[in-house]
Formats: sequence, structure tokens, C-alpha cells
Amino acid sequence: MLYTNKLFRKRDIYNHLKYEALFFKAIKENCLYLYKHCAEYKKILDDKYFNINRDLKSVDDISKIPFIPTLYLKRHKLTTIKHKSLITVTSSGTSSRNKSEIDFNLGFLLRAWNMTRRVAKYHKLWSIKPTRYLILGYKPNKKNPAAVTKTAFAATFFAPGISRTYAIDYVNGEYKVDLDKLKNKLVKFAKGRLPVRTMGFPAYTYFLLKQMKDEGIKVKLPKGSKIMLGGGWKQFYAEKVDKEEFYKLAEEVLGVNDKNIVEFFGAVEHPILYTDCREHHFHVPIYSKIIIRDVSTLEPLEEGKIGLINLITPIASSSPLVSIMTDDLGVLHSSCKCGEKGQYLEIIGRVGIKDIVTCAQGAEEMLKQ
Ligand SMILES: [Zn+2]
Repeated sequence: MLYTNKLFRKRDIYNHLKYEALFFKAIKENCLYLYKHCAEYKKILDDKYFNINRDLKSVDDISKIPFIPTLYLKRHKLTTIKHKSLITVTSSGTSSRNKSEIDFNLGFLLRAWNMTRRVAKYHKLWSIKPTRYLILGYKPNKKNPAAVTKTAFAATFFAPGISRTYAIDYVNGEYKVDLDKLKNKLVKFAKGRLPVRTMGFPAYTYFLLKQMKDEGIKVKLPKGSKIMLGGGWKQFYAEKVDKEEFYKLAEEVLGVNDKNIVEFFGAVEHPILYTDCREHHFHVPIYSKIIIRDVSTLEPLEEGKIGLINLITPIASSSPLVSIMTDDLGVLHSSCKCGEKGQYLEIIGRVGIKDIVTCAQGAEEMLKQ
């Protein structure tokens, strides 16, 4: 994975033009590797008569690579790893039929680390100041392989953690949610000098802030405090919170300005770290490419048109994640006020249940053909 490793070491993380050629080489390298090492992936390409060397000649051909729907991954585990994988991560679905299970290897971890390092540097998330963390999520334990837990835990390393408090704890074999504990800590930490960082689902964080407001609790967190949001798309839509309202509430209740609110997104099936800019837009980093496709024809759409989000990245050699089709709707824009020239993704929401069934059937059909 020579080109891929090179791509993930680049510093200029939103300069697509500069790295277009390298990105293409990395994608081709990834496709060839997956074709050789994953029998199911080989079959998918062969069934679609897609010949990598013949059909993948330039960056414009990337949209022709047969994509794998996330729904397909939830039903079939696809891996290039023959024996035991280094780590296996699941998506946050509720039942086992609803979860994708993805294997990751050392090469992936190194690329992911390089990416995280660069992204955090660009977005000024690194700090040497000892920080108190409040996590609106699960305390990590061996029984919980969900990516959300791992991501939330990883986010507590951008600044040295002096303490970590979890909203959801694993006590005597079951999970217990304790928001009061977080509220008390926020009040206590606000009196101190060390910055506080919260990390959690936007909806959960909103719920906590709303509760504090209703109870008349208002504090001013120390300078350098941040509210970090993230943890998977599905939860993100399920209880969609108006962003402006959220920022106002955070300022009012915790005294945290929206410039210190940062949001991430990614998915197990597309483990790329998207971080919002100061205008709160998710720019597409050089590690990935996003194609928006027409809901009925699946043809790529131009910028500004709403369609299904197709996520492309060469990051994983352990699983065929090179081109993943989601059941989420989105639209690409450019010319953000923050000054970044590249495109950013606006997530519109999920396709309706009826459409998902259609998509799922379509995907199954597509793969059967
Ligand atoms: Zn921007």
C-alpha cells in the first residue's frame, strides 16, 4: 500500500487538486489489493465485468468502481484477513442483523493514526494543557466493540486527560446512564482552572444542556474548554437538533462559544475523520472522495444536487471499503466562507424506510446479477 500510505502522510489535508494524482494511484492500488485478497470482492467486480487495469485509468473513472451498499455489509462480512484480525469493529446498529462487522489491520491503524494526527493539528485540537473529559457515552469495556465507544475514547487523547467521566457506566453487567453525575462535574469543574472537554452524540449533549437550562444551572467553563460532538450518522439524524439553537444553548449554559464546538463524523464502513470547519461545514479531506448519486438511476450528480451519498477511500486493505454506498441523502457544496477551496458535504438525512427496502433489494439484485 505504497501510494495509500503516502497519501495518509500528507499535511495539506484539504488540498484535493494537489493530491489528485496520488489519490487516484492509491485507489487503484487498493482496488487491486482487495481484488487479489478478497474472493467476495473479486466476484463482485467480475460479475459487473469491471476490469481494474482496463476500466480504471483516470480519476474520472473512480465513479465506475462497483460500490458496495452499507446494507450489504450488514449482512455479509467481507474481509481480506485469513486468520484472526487485529481488531474487529461493529457499527452501532441495534440488532446483529443491523450491524456491520469490519476487520482492521495494522496498516489501517497506522494510516488512521496519521490522518487523525493531521486533522487534529489542522483543527487545533491538540493541547498540552491537562484537561478534564466528560464523555456522553459508554465507558469502554471488552464487551463493547462498537466504533462509537472507541472514537469517543480516542478523542480524549487530543489533550492529556487528567480525568475521564462517563455518562454511561457498566455496573454489575449492565449499562447505567447517569446524567446527574455529569451535571455535578460540570458545576464543579467550572470553578476550577483546567479546561473541560465534552465528547458525545449531538442529541445527547443537547439533552444534557437542555436539562441544565430547565433546572436553572448555568456555568462558565474555564478558558480552552471545548464541546466535541460525534459518534455516527444514524443517531445524528434520529434526533436532529437545530445547530443554531444548539450553539446558543451551549453559550448560555456552559459559556462555550460556537468556535469551541467541534463536530466529527465518520462511519465504521467509511472510517475517515470528517471535522467541521469554523462555519460548521464538513469539508472532504484528501483521504476520501464523495460522489452524490441520483436516487433512481444511481448516476453521479453535479454539485448542488441532492442524492445518495457514495463514500470513497483507499484507507482499508483489510476490508473492501473502497467504494461504499450509504442510504443517506446529501449534497456537495463549494466556496465555504471559511476559505477552504474544497467541497463540503451537507447531510440531508436518511432515505425513507420504503426507499431503504427498495435500495436494499436493488443492492442485492445488483450483486446477484
Ligand atoms: Zn468551511
